[in-house]
Amino acid sequence: MHRAMAGDWTRRQFVAGLAASGVVAGGGVRALAQSTLTGEAAIRELMEGNERFMAGKITSFPEDLKILKEKTVLKQEPFAAVLACADSRVPVEILFDQSIGHVFVSRVAGNVVTPEIMASLEYAVAALGVKALLVIGHTNCGAISAAVAAKEVPGQISVLYQHLMPGIRGAKGDVPLAVKMNAAYQAQVWQAQTAEFFGQLGKAAQFTNQAVDLAQRSKLKEAAAQVQLQQAMRNAAFRDCGQVRELTAKGLEVSRDLSSLNQAAHAFAACGETSQTLSLIDDLQKGFPTDTLLNTVSIPLMRAQLELNRGNAAQAVQLLEPARKYEVYGDFWPQYLRGQAYLKQRNGAQAAVEFQTILDHRGWYPTSPLYPLAHLGLARAAALTGDSGKKRKFYQDFLAIWKDADPTPILIEARREYEKLK
Ligand SMILES: [Zn+2]
Repeated sequence: MHRAMAGDWTRRQFVAGLAASGVVAGGGVRALAQSTLTGEAAIRELMEGNERFMAGKITSFPEDLKILKEKTVLKQEPFAAVLACADSRVPVEILFDQSIGHVFVSRVAGNVVTPEIMASLEYAVAALGVKALLVIGHTNCGAISAAVAAKEVPGQISVLYQHLMPGIRGAKGDVPLAVKMNAAYQAQVWQAQTAEFFGQLGKAAQFTNQAVDLAQRSKLKEAAAQVQLQQAMRNAAFRDCGQVRELTAKGLEVSRDLSSLNQAAHAFAACGETSQTLSLIDDLQKGFPTDTLLNTVSIPLMRAQLELNRGNAAQAVQLLEPARKYEVYGDFWPQYLRGQAYLKQRNGAQAAVEFQTILDHRGWYPTSPLYPLAHLGLARAAALTGDSGKKRKFYQDFLAIWKDADPTPILIEARREYEKLK
């Protein structure tokens, strides 16, 4: 029985799955525990373990038994984090021949990077100091097959689809190709979002370009467009608007679905491209008149941003009112824009409420770039209310998270403001 199942897990299939995986080295974050391995050595260690597994020469079991017999109190010091499918044929520790305490494993059907998974992986990097992250797909993945077929599935299983579709969109029904595309895509999502969180736009752009290359080489125009639009949105959030027009144009040339138009319009609004934004809002309203989140959250957000650009803070706050009902789904943008509007009105107390909401509900979107920026908002709010202790603390908190960030206009301004406190 066991043997029959292992039969479709041939060496070649497994290695093919690994080749499609993505790797990330833990990016310069100070951690509590520390493996002394480098990122490359961490990956090598996993690969050598996989060789032992393939050769049927596992060494981790005796080690595990020894640990159990000695009742060792283990300090957790994993050297790598692995994201794998929940499938019963992908027992990560065994596949990589690693004993207890060495790998930090997250498993979810389809090995997708959802906000919760992102939070776990972030903990592995930030608190445990893992040196590499590996995303692996596997042969005969049920989640990918179902998403490729877009089958009706019972209960909440289809929640996974939204995370799988961007990666597999271009695979055109080829499930083994979709498995590879998905693993590479999820790794790219993780890398780019992590870089973005720490204000490293250059790094994020690099990961984006790699993913675009990969997608284009596989003739996956739509996946490439998706990634370019995400990068446009990312740049716009940091007011780094130089490439936003180009990225957006490339993205929209290939795809004008709801998500593409939405991201493009948000990026244009944040970069002050009023006429482009209004024209896309028009397309969105005509194309998707009954979409609740679009009409009560997304479009009001874009309009509020345009008003804020013109200095009409009160108007912006008013436009954001309908979004209150769906606060959770706005990726922190409603609170962030409201906070900005109150700052403009020199209402420090109200602004602080909005930015504090972001800090208090980090779980809504753990790697949002607006989470570090909310600290900066709180510092500026404290400056208005004259609380110099809080002001200093929040500037320090922001600059600590962004200590390796690229010198975007936002960082330069924040550093200048903080220098004045000294
Ligand atoms: Zn699977």
